[in-house]
Amino acid sequence: MNYNEIVKKNMEFMQSKMCEWSAVPIIGVDDAVIENGVSKKMPIFDFPQGLGFKTAPSLFANQGDCCNLCGTNIKNVFWIQNIDKHWIMPVGSECVTRFGQGDSGQELINQVVWANNLKLLLEILKLKRTLWKTFSKRISLGYDRYETNIWPHSENEKAALQVFNACKVCLGKVNEESNNAAITRWINRKGNDVNEVLRNGETLMVMHNNHKVVLELFNTRRLIWEKFSKRQQVDNQRSETKIWPHSETETAALAIFEEAAACLGEIRERSDNASITLWMNVNGNYAQEIIAKGRSIALVEADQIAAMHR
Ligand SMILES: [Zn+2]
Repeated sequence: MNYNEIVKKNMEFMQSKMCEWSAVPIIGVDDAVIENGVSKKMPIFDFPQGLGFKTAPSLFANQGDCCNLCGTNIKNVFWIQNIDKHWIMPVGSECVTRFGQGDSGQELINQVVWANNLKLLLEILKLKRTLWKTFSKRISLGYDRYETNIWPHSENEKAALQVFNACKVCLGKVNEESNNAAITRWINRKGNDVNEVLRNGETLMVMHNNHKVVLELFNTRRLIWEKFSKRQQVDNQRSETKIWPHSETETAALAIFEEAAACLGEIRERSDNASITLWMNVNGNYAQEIIAKGRSIALVEADQIAAMHR
């Protein structure tokens, strides 16, 4: 029997048709598989979800590492799926070409690898830009000279400078203009470093954003204090500066002012990352609410002042 006859007979045996089948999509590759001392890229399949998917009852089922479509021995397994019948079936690199865009198994893997490589490159370039935009400052060196740089003063600025430099080292001469081959070589060499830098960058940005929430909450308090606090005579002897809850707006402003203090608790603008992280896990959402309320009450007051001067 030739290939076509075997496949036809197999389909009849399963009471199925070729058109019912499609390739199981490949969503990534696993580099961790070592075969004969060489790391091998293994596809990660996006198997159909849901209960009851079984290996198809092919003529070649349970016959070891063979393509269950044509019975040929195979080294690299790919999968096809029959959604109606809830079957999946292992096939060889060549047979899989009949169930997708006509790409062989190796081509499918290459496409995923290439997409991943490009994604890593774009991510590290974006991280580098974000770090510069977020942390760089222009400072005066005296005599009308200025320099813009990431100055490592705070804990996060130190980390930012480190990650920024690591981005530069990692990237070397690679950039958006590099060609496919250069990018692939770069990832093969630096892939692990790139992933580590990206992880560090992500942690840093989370820290930075947490810290920003603390700063904003303090700013909310400052803003409310500046706008609403008044010096007022308490009795004959003394006067006191505070937010006096005379009007409805002032009462609301005072409430937000006190809420912000209660929410902050022991946290200060210079608290370390670990304390701020702990604090954010508990208070993050609440803090954002207070900041939003503080902003809107500051705006209300600004409008009222503007109206008075019209
Ligand atoms: Zn086959």
